[in-house]
Amino acid sequence: MLTITDLRGTEITAEVLESVLPRAEVDVTAAVETVRPLLERVRAEGASAVLEIGEGFDGVRPALLRVAPDKLQRALDDLDPDVRAALEESIRRARLVHAAQRPADSTVELGEGAVVENHWLPVGRVGLYVPGGRAVYPSSVVMNVVPAQAAGVSSLAVTSPPQRDHHGDPHPVVLAACALLGVDEVYAAGGAQAIAMLAYGVEGCPGVDIITGPGNVYVAAAKRAVLGTVGIDAEAGPSEIAVLADDSANPAWVAADLISQSEHDPMAASVLITNSAELADQVVAEIEAQVPGATLEQQIRQALTGPQSRVLIVDDLDTGIAVANAYASEHLEIHTHDNEAVLANISNAGAVFVGPYSPVPLGDYSSGSNHVLPTSGSARFSSGLNTVSFLRLQQRIRYQETGLKELQRGIVALAHSEGLHAHGDAIDIRFD
Ligand code: NAD
Repeated sequence: MLTITDLRGTEITAEVLESVLPRAEVDVTAAVETVRPLLERVRAEGASAVLEIGEGFDGVRPALLRVAPDKLQRALDDLDPDVRAALEESIRRARLVHAAQRPADSTVELGEGAVVENHWLPVGRVGLYVPGGRAVYPSSVVMNVVPAQAAGVSSLAVTSPPQRDHHGDPHPVVLAACALLGVDEVYAAGGAQAIAMLAYGVEGCPGVDIITGPGNVYVAAAKRAVLGTVGIDAEAGPSEIAVLADDSANPAWVAADLISQSEHDPMAASVLITNSAELADQVVAEIEAQVPGATLEQQIRQALTGPQSRVLIVDDLDTGIAVANAYASEHLEIHTHDNEAVLANISNAGAVFVGPYSPVPLGDYSSGSNHVLPTSGSARFSSGLNTVSFLRLQQRIRYQETGLKELQRGIVALAHSEGLHAHGDAIDIRFD
């Protein structure tokens, strides 16, 4: 099901990697054109348009766009005790990790009467998208809400698609997760119409400053289209797992981890990079054994047989590290004799899962780390969702007369060199 490509003896250039491991094509640009009329309609018509468009796609219209707070509490009261305990533990761990991400303010004295402060401020109001089309993701409620709360965001709206089986409300476990996190502003809206609601504001839902959260291509396209009106987090493409392994790896565990991520999406990428031809064969055999009978077998098969999923055999681990860095996967697992030595050389990966007892599904739910991670190679230049995603750095400049005087000549010289004499004059006037 998963194709093996033997790259031993091949010089692995960017072109070679691109040809053996193409990323799934998701045309967000085309989807932007699809969603633009939906966004415009919500901007012009407001809440009624959100409900009507949602009814068209989701096949159900909730009585109210905003979920009544007593429904949140009821969903929590009805929640399976095991799921509740697991969510509480996920939240507890995520809160600890995300609190530690909050950067400290700093004050830098640059001379007498010359001080610059770095001051971190939370964003005022955020909108968090929790997907709910093909599957429902209460875990994504935790992953969005916890960093926003850790940053100190005071106004927080969650939105998730209306569910036909629940009279048009978002899924009850999503509602229960909101209640556990202390979120009481929840909307039954999905897709581009939900993004428009958050970006432009509609009656009953004031516009937000930042929208975060994963979603399908229409959600990604809508977020791209409203960027500028609001801030957004990174665009989320299909899920990706790369496993870098040598002959010390347990093939059944590696296979299970590769399968687990293929369950997300038919376009999900599952990639094994190894210097062991024997492990490659064993993992492929394990996949053949484990997939039949899986709950989402069809989707898993589609993802594992797609060109974006592959086993790559390389000459040695150093080459494997170079391939992993060039691929820059959303998730990277390391299963080798010396995981720390490999980790020290990994520069590009959304999150790294070190050793056989740190599988990706641990991070999907409960490790304390965030599961909203950069896909499609964007780990080269961006981070997963984190506390800083909801903060802004405000620099505060406090110079006194002595501090400014010391720089007067230099600033005036620079201003004149740029032909901006009024800039220099604004300094000189204070000392004339
Ligand atoms: P979704 O909530 O993103 O999208 C559902 C909405 O899409 C519907 O409510 C509808 O309004 C809209 N829609 C459907 N068809 C449309 C069309 N033809 N035109 C315009 N709008 C349309 O739910 P989903 O579809 O299940 O997608 C969720 C995605 O999020 C999956 O790809 C999943 O892998 C991903 N995900 C990623 C993470 C992560 O952390 N990276 C976590 C959870 C989910």
